[in-house]
Amino acid sequence: PTIRAAELRRLLEDLIDEIRAADDWGVPAQYIPELAAVDPAQVGAAVILADGTEIVAGDADRPFSIQSVSKVFSLAAVLGRIGDDLWRRVGREPSGTRFDSIFLLEREGGRPRNPFINAGALVTTDALLSGREPQQALSELMGLIRWIADDDEIHIDGAVANSEKATGHRNLSLIHYLASCDNLQNPPELLFGTYVHQCAIEMSCRQLARAGRGLAGLPRAPRMVSPIRARRINALMMTCGHYDGSGEFAYRVGLPGKSGVGGGILAIAPGIASIALWSPGLDEYGNSRWGTWLADRIAQAAGWSAFA
Ligand code: GLN
Repeated sequence: PTIRAAELRRLLEDLIDEIRAADDWGVPAQYIPELAAVDPAQVGAAVILADGTEIVAGDADRPFSIQSVSKVFSLAAVLGRIGDDLWRRVGREPSGTRFDSIFLLEREGGRPRNPFINAGALVTTDALLSGREPQQALSELMGLIRWIADDDEIHIDGAVANSEKATGHRNLSLIHYLASCDNLQNPPELLFGTYVHQCAIEMSCRQLARAGRGLAGLPRAPRMVSPIRARRINALMMTCGHYDGSGEFAYRVGLPGKSGVGGGILAIAPGIASIALWSPGLDEYGNSRWGTWLADRIAQAAGWSAFA
């Protein structure tokens, strides 16, 4: 807790000015048509400190598609529902593969490496869906997110969900592969529909940073999981949250983080801050290019690290 709020506010504004001046935005996700159409020239940041101070800069109040950042919340919901039984179906090891890879799934008998690659997130959402209609499972998840973010306006963008559904052959193939290995409990179409809607949740940086307060262990934050589970989710975010870019993110930023192909990143400075960053242009791993840069610069300037 070395940096003062006023200093941090100036830092965020300066960094965002620097990004805007560079005018080199990169390319948004192309494989989901609705995301490919997003204007890449956008960048936002929100940081919430332990005393509740919210510091925002740039497009921090513009909602974006959180995509795989939602996997943190579905994991929390499922751990709350079935506890450690989930780990019979999903591992806790980094994959070193692309987020949508099928490669290890065949080699490892249909048990995905971790809950953040697509295969593992699909199993997690399958567990969320069991015993529920898709609508119910999604409203349970939305209820959780609205509660931890303190905001009932958060919703799902149906156009993004349908756009992913229309082009999601890779995820469908993962789903069918999981089913062939007996690692699914629900019909493939129902799981696919639920998953694309979960990924199509829209949040702003401010809303996402609020949702991360419990994982950061900030005082008075609504807690979606117990403190020990929060620690474990943070560990998974650190080791697996950026797919085959996770080692690099841990090295550069030193904080647990979860990315999504909408260009969002949730990063956690345990005990200190919840951080949300967004810019739609992606790097070669499908992680936000400027979001990663911002996380790096903020962590260095503020002296925040899980390894301090
Ligand atoms: N909905 C996306 C997909 O399954 C999420 C991927 C991501 O954000 N990395 O392909």
